[in-house]
Amino acid sequence: MRPQILFPVFASTVALPGVGKQAARLLERLAGPAVADLLWHLPTGIVDRSHMPTVRDAPPGAIVTLALTVDAHLPGRTPRRPYKVRCSDDTGFLHLVYFNAHPDYLQKLLPVGAQRIVSGRVELFGDERQMTHPDHVVPPEEADTISGIEPVYGLTTGLTLRMLGKAMQAALARAPELGEWHDASLVARERWAGWRASLLAAHAPVGADDVAPTTAVRRRLAYDELLANQLALGLVRLNQRRLPGRSLQSDGRLAGAAIAALPFALTGSQQTAFAEIAADLTSDRRMLRLLQGDVGSGKTVVALLAMLTAVECGAQAALMAPTEILARQHFATIEPLAAAAGVRLALLTGRDKGKTRAALVEQLAAGAVDLVVGTHALFQEDVEFRDLAVAVIDEQHRFGVHQRLTLATKGKGVDVLVMTATPIPRTLMMTAYGDLDVSRLREKPAGRKPVDTRTVPVDRLDEVVAGVARQLTAGAKVYWVCPLVEESELIDVAAAVDRQRHLEAALGMPVGLLHGRLKAAEKDRAMAAFAEGDLGLLVATTVIEVGVDVPAATVMVIEHAERFGLAQLHQLRGRIGRGERPSTCVLLYQGPLGETARARLEIMRDTEDGFRIAEEDLRLRGAGEVLGTRQSGMPTFKLADLTVHRDLLEIARDDARLFLERDPELTTPRGQALRVLLYLFERDAAVRYLRSG
Ligand code: ADP
Ligand code: MG
Repeated sequence: MRPQILFPVFASTVALPGVGKQAARLLERLAGPAVADLLWHLPTGIVDRSHMPTVRDAPPGAIVTLALTVDAHLPGRTPRRPYKVRCSDDTGFLHLVYFNAHPDYLQKLLPVGAQRIVSGRVELFGDERQMTHPDHVVPPEEADTISGIEPVYGLTTGLTLRMLGKAMQAALARAPELGEWHDASLVARERWAGWRASLLAAHAPVGADDVAPTTAVRRRLAYDELLANQLALGLVRLNQRRLPGRSLQSDGRLAGAAIAALPFALTGSQQTAFAEIAADLTSDRRMLRLLQGDVGSGKTVVALLAMLTAVECGAQAALMAPTEILARQHFATIEPLAAAAGVRLALLTGRDKGKTRAALVEQLAAGAVDLVVGTHALFQEDVEFRDLAVAVIDEQHRFGVHQRLTLATKGKGVDVLVMTATPIPRTLMMTAYGDLDVSRLREKPAGRKPVDTRTVPVDRLDEVVAGVARQLTAGAKVYWVCPLVEESELIDVAAAVDRQRHLEAALGMPVGLLHGRLKAAEKDRAMAAFAEGDLGLLVATTVIEVGVDVPAATVMVIEHAERFGLAQLHQLRGRIGRGERPSTCVLLYQGPLGETARARLEIMRDTEDGFRIAEEDLRLRGAGEVLGTRQSGMPTFKLADLTVHRDLLEIARDDARLFLERDPELTTPRGQALRVLLYLFERDAAVRYLRSG
């Protein structure tokens, strides 16, 4: 249960004095429904209202505070014209300008003849001074409520700075004094104030520097959030360790048979990764391991060996892929190897319906299938296993955390291996998994050639098409990728269709087309014609992004490369450079490019190291953008910014780990304070893992 001391923090903003339903709705749109959401909405700048010139001396464009007398109300002649209120001091007059005004309200706010203190930005309209929608209008006796320096916040339409400022003050007044949860020596070293004092200070900047993320105040708040994140992950992990796993004692017979059937030798990285996984499987703790490897580094084979280890012990294993195409491809790779090992293999995807599906489901439940490859179809409730021991989840960033766990619950003590071809930066990985075990495939399989990457403006499309024609004549297979901009799939597909027609006309040969709107069978046909038939050129949307393997493909053109994320470009480019022949990737861009866009394309040109690309992407764009974090199951932070608070994340990880070793139930005084911290950042679920939660 949430501790009582935090109740005011999690009350709805409607409960704040001066916040009505309407304002609460706006605040919710801006930050969220609770007082806490407001507290986390930190200022982005300051305005200085201490300048109090006369009207004549008020500099246009500047924020000023004026002492005025109200002279007259001048309603607009039509409803669309602004409502003006003429005011003056000894040196001159100025108009206060209101659009969509409520005259009754303005009459009350600014009665003719009254004195008012007015603050806002002065503008010139012709040669007259005016102020549109002043930030503050108060009677002289309330002049001190217009503080000299006021924080500026991000707003939303309909919400004024004044409304937000009032609500914020009310919210801050409710913030309780909370016991210190941080380690005393860290607090001393960083010169941090307590939580409440830091929060108040963060909302009361006095200089422009005070809103920087690097101030002690902001770092403290960021650290609160990061520690809550790391502690929660640590608790989940401890809990998982507590659940019984199973020890798979195998003789390596089937894995050996599969290795013998491979047309190549395993790379050193693959061997190491498999050894690490085998050790996890033998141990009676549950495995939760990430197999991270650049595109084409050969993860599938490693996954297969892990799965065969389960089968050797008489249990079952499942491999889940994010797309139909990829599931089929995994199935095709695994099929001959499974046959060599004498293992019963099945494929289950969304395409299996009716009787076929029912039969498959029955076989899985009966244990008549040892190994199954599939898509999310594997998650469905009626899919049961006789004895699932190993679950492999490929390209996991496309699945939610929830889905990941669902597969693991389809057996007892299931060992889970997640594979990702997206080299998630270490920092992001830590926030999503904490101290997860990681195996990395660093070497590419022998014989891979580097890809020659070029950036070309789209004005030079004709040259690129001519180059593609030469490559096709020389027998190359070429991918031509058109971007998908989620909002309008239809328009995107239309662009791909246009490009296909244009290329067919320009090259005088058939061009294939692959996009998400095609029927499954049509996709298969297009893919097969390209992979095995004589089709030389395939226009595709990003459906080819994940894992499709056509070793003969050596050229890729990516249109509007500037619209893609770096991780995505890297994934796409990984489709080529898989065979013996040298490969070329052309990044076509629409200029002019901004500085960041230019830097990003340059990184792609300069390196093929996925981990470096991911780190640079994080640095250039911030964590929120990398991987499209929201869909990816990666956590997002309100106070911490991983591009600047990385050092704090590492401290938080060590802090959480050391602390949980000493006080895994959070019972010491600091442990009790940390419970409050977990609730403060809504990690209630993690607290439930505590025996005395
Ligand atoms: P990933 O899933 O990591 O992108 P895959 O597992 O799909 O990579 O492997 C890519 C290709 O490399 C496949 O055709 C696979 O058969 C091949 N491959 C895997 N391991 C090796 C190896 N050790 N030597 C040569 N080729 C390999
Ligand atoms: Mg793969």
